[in-house]
Amino acid sequence: MTEQKTVITRFAPSPTGFLHIGGGRTALFSWLFARHHGGKFLLRIEDTDRERSTEPAVAAIFEGLRWLGLDWDGDVVMQFSRQARHREVAEELLAKGQAYYCYASPEELEEMRAKAKAEGRPMNYDGRWRDRDPSEAPAGVKPVIRFKSPNVGETVVRDHVMGDVTFANEQLDDLIIVRSDGTPTYNLSVVVDDHDMGITHVIRGDDHLTNSGRQSQIYAAMGWETPEFAHLPLILGPDGAKLSKRHGALGVDAYRDMGYLPEAMRNYLARLGWSHGDDEIFSTEQAIQWFDLEHIGRSPSRFDFAKLENLNGQYIRETDDARLADETIALMARLAGWNEGAEFRAQLIAAMPGIKERAKTLVEIGKAAEFLRAKRPLVLDASAQTLLNQEGRALLARLLPKLEANNDWAVGEIEATVRSFAETENLKLGKIAQPLRAAVTGSTVSPPIFDVLATLGREEALGRIRDQAA
Ligand code: GLU
Repeated sequence: MTEQKTVITRFAPSPTGFLHIGGGRTALFSWLFARHHGGKFLLRIEDTDRERSTEPAVAAIFEGLRWLGLDWDGDVVMQFSRQARHREVAEELLAKGQAYYCYASPEELEEMRAKAKAEGRPMNYDGRWRDRDPSEAPAGVKPVIRFKSPNVGETVVRDHVMGDVTFANEQLDDLIIVRSDGTPTYNLSVVVDDHDMGITHVIRGDDHLTNSGRQSQIYAAMGWETPEFAHLPLILGPDGAKLSKRHGALGVDAYRDMGYLPEAMRNYLARLGWSHGDDEIFSTEQAIQWFDLEHIGRSPSRFDFAKLENLNGQYIRETDDARLADETIALMARLAGWNEGAEFRAQLIAAMPGIKERAKTLVEIGKAAEFLRAKRPLVLDASAQTLLNQEGRALLARLLPKLEANNDWAVGEIEATVRSFAETENLKLGKIAQPLRAAVTGSTVSPPIFDVLATLGREEALGRIRDQAA
């Protein structure tokens, strides 16, 4: 029986900006795959670009992953801290004759570039120091170290998504693995780290496909086992164009602030490029149970805000009222300075069944709950003002004593009173409900009006009506 290796995946973002939604998906897929196999999901911060890497970006990555519920195993690996190890491997490659010092001057490289351009092909380093004796090295020049990549034959990346991707070795030139200032380059660092971290499956964006070809050569030169690869196609906008800000190319934190639930986000992102039959809505447990690399699509997926919103709305309707209230309160405290106590929380929970029926995001819940926070006398919006004309106010004045006679202030009781009042007035229910809603919420949209009245409580509701009745 062959021993099954523990699956180890990783997410390896560069902390040069926010945690992009595409990065969130890459992390999710790596996490799902690891969890499916009972393996490990590791996190490596690729902070070797010292100028562009920032602390806030690192913090945003941690926060974004935590919010998405993608927990990682073990300590975070900071790539920059491993430079000595990366250089050590470069030395090993030198010693094995798999790398060499290159003294080509900037002018020489410029010449190569110009020539390639004139011939309409990409610039390939011509290997002029590949077999040259180091004794020929010009004095005072700090060399780079180049990887001696094979010149003939092919390198095949066996990709779980793309199939076999073949590179002609002559297309892959001798890559710089250590710069003249001694800093290791990206492809070397990634290989060394993935190897040392025991990564079995590299799941990342397909913009890294060529890198995988190059990296495979470095694995081979070191005699290390190459991990398995799965390259994820891009995420496009709904119109098939490159994902723009308007279309959702935002940080994961932006989605949190728009009021999406992390589980809805996970569900949506899982479906963005991966499928399980026709299933659209599934729990994270199901996603873990079902996830595989074979059902990742080969063509780019399209990010569709409307679909995400709908899905989120469905999740909201299934979510417990108390949790929705707590999440909304926390979000609105951060975004809109809400500072509410236990009484408000209880009112919000009571109003939630009416509110969540229509809300697609927590922000919408927050907006729909504003009527609970409003202070007397209410500020009326323009359409509420229109409804509360002389006629509307007079109507309320006639309704008021009937409502005042209600002592229990239960939804059914309030509703019965208003209905019978409508009959006496020979008016449709809506004709009463409109000015009533305007008076108690200051606007013309709200959860069901009888719920609103009940939730506000007798004193407050009657007070608000009294303020407008004339
Ligand atoms: N740090 C790279 C990036 O942010 C990813 C490297 C990798 O996944 O191998 O694009």
